[in-house]
Amino acid sequence: MIRKKDYQYGKQTIDKEDIISVNEVLKSPFLTQGPNVAEFEKTICQCTKARYAIAVANGTAALHLSMMALNIKANDEVITSPLTFVASANCVLYCGGKAIFSDIEADSGLIDPEQLRGRINKKTKAIIPVHYAGQSCDMDRISKIAKDNNLFVIEDAAHAIGSEYKGVKVGSCRYSDMTIFSFHPVKTITTGEGGVITTNNPDYYKKLLLLRTHGITKEKKDFKNPHGLEIGPWYYEMQSLGFNYRLTDIQAALGLSQIKKLDKFVQKRREIVELYKREFANDPRFEVLIEKPYGVPAYHLFPLLIDFSQIKKTKAQLFSDLQENGIHPQVHYIPVHLQPFYQQFDYHLGDYPKAEAFYQRTISLPLYPSLSFADIRSIIAIVKTYAV
Ligand SMILES: *Cc1c(COP(=O)(O)O)cnc(C)c1O
Repeated sequence: MIRKKDYQYGKQTIDKEDIISVNEVLKSPFLTQGPNVAEFEKTICQCTKARYAIAVANGTAALHLSMMALNIKANDEVITSPLTFVASANCVLYCGGKAIFSDIEADSGLIDPEQLRGRINKKTKAIIPVHYAGQSCDMDRISKIAKDNNLFVIEDAAHAIGSEYKGVKVGSCRYSDMTIFSFHPVKTITTGEGGVITTNNPDYYKKLLLLRTHGITKEKKDFKNPHGLEIGPWYYEMQSLGFNYRLTDIQAALGLSQIKKLDKFVQKRREIVELYKREFANDPRFEVLIEKPYGVPAYHLFPLLIDFSQIKKTKAQLFSDLQENGIHPQVHYIPVHLQPFYQQFDYHLGDYPKAEAFYQRTISLPLYPSLSFADIRSIIAIVKTYAV
């Protein structure tokens, strides 16, 4: 039951403008892929400085198509972080490849570039760095490792729209082949469900467009017509096995209206995190994630690390105390290699000790733009009262 002053760990911020722009589409001739999708893609390009953007049904579809564009297949290995949502690894399995994990840095939750190097072998094809909580991985180092080993890089930036790395926006693909974003309601901007892939490579762009719509093309110049069928306005060709991963125009209209507020959202999120950090950093029961000097994170999450051996409570007990006081944290993430489905791939408890230790300690506290600083102060006071 949700009371008036209940704080989820994350949620959407929807205003009148958002509602008006969605309503407008409902009166228009296009409900699915139409002018708003094209406009949304253009805006994503302007905002990230990437050359191309392909809007898709969700962030998972974006990851799946990015793996397909790279032609990942059986026996290929792709390395990602164990501290992520299952989709970052599942996209490799969808293509028949093997998801390999590489441990994180304990103080940032980001994949550790040095360990990453040691996980590469002859079967490795790509790396999927995850910009955990909204902070960019060290893409300069990761792209150098990838170049040295002839690997592709796909950035999982589901948490990181609006983030900066070394003066460029995440999604620019300066250090990667493709970047994916998610617009699920808990993420920084939302389309309900939705995602996008950015790239600077025209070949990937062409492939992704096909794969988004069943592998079907209506471009006359691309027709193969193996049986010499009559070609007319009805004619189309399916040239590869794609999917229906389209974003609707209704969703894109919401995205367009949301992205106008991105800078404002990011600023408020950063201010909230600053207040949290100031209040928790000097208390020995707690640890906050470090902010790397190379970037400006658009925070999606605020993970607070708690040493549960220091306080006389389990995480479940603390959760229940916080929930009784209207605070509904979440845990990001149960390491993917510990999921039951992943046991068939011979992963074990203890394989990635830093990700596992991080999981034991972390709780994500409420973080979304409509929280007031008074709300945050009250959340901080409640956490400090019950984490004993
Ligand atoms: C949310 C998320 C995804 C998947 O996005 P969906 O839009 O929910 O499919 C992928 N990776 C990470 C790290 C995420 O947080």
